[in-house]
Amino acid sequence: MAEEKPLDFTREITSRLGGETITHCYQCGTCASTCPVARITERYNPRQLIRLALLGQRDEVLKGDTIWLCASCYNCQERCPQKVEVADVIYALRNMAIQEGNIPAIYMEFASGLMGEGRLAPISKFLEKKRAEYGLPPLKPANIEALRKILAATGFDKIMFKKEGACP
Ligand code: SF4
Ligand code: SF4
Repeated sequence: MAEEKPLDFTREITSRLGGETITHCYQCGTCASTCPVARITERYNPRQLIRLALLGQRDEVLKGDTIWLCASCYNCQERCPQKVEVADVIYALRNMAIQEGNIPAIYMEFASGLMGEGRLAPISKFLEKKRAEYGLPPLKPANIEALRKILAATGFDKIMFKKEGACP
């Protein structure tokens, strides 16, 4: 297989929904200085993540855990002077990672919940009790069949569970 060049990876990202603006980045660091995650851990820095991607460090970006640390708060996106859609670029990178089977265990759990019960997290007795205490109506059961059809139409079920070789 031919060696991938930095530009190949960049083109792949810009061809994705959400990834279009990555090449506008001029590495000013505004995103990193406003990022609440970067404030609490040195493991995460959106400016560095974008730089790695633009340098074509495909494996480091798509196989590492950094892209999963973003909290999707959009602080960076609001403030970027170059109008880089940072959070959306990170979603594009996550989608690429998922399609290559690089999926953190917690997301597999969410996917199992979605396919099995139609919810990311099950409705617990505690939650039901708290809703009643606050005068909120009980949550209605999800329309699982309709949801499964949508997930199947998008290929979500195959992508999420091909690694395990089984659906929940
Ligand atoms: S704020 Fe925008 S231009 Fe500056 S480093 Fe972040 S993404 Fe790049
Ligand atoms: S969207 Fe992600 S990268 Fe941007 S500021 Fe929020 S946590 Fe940081």
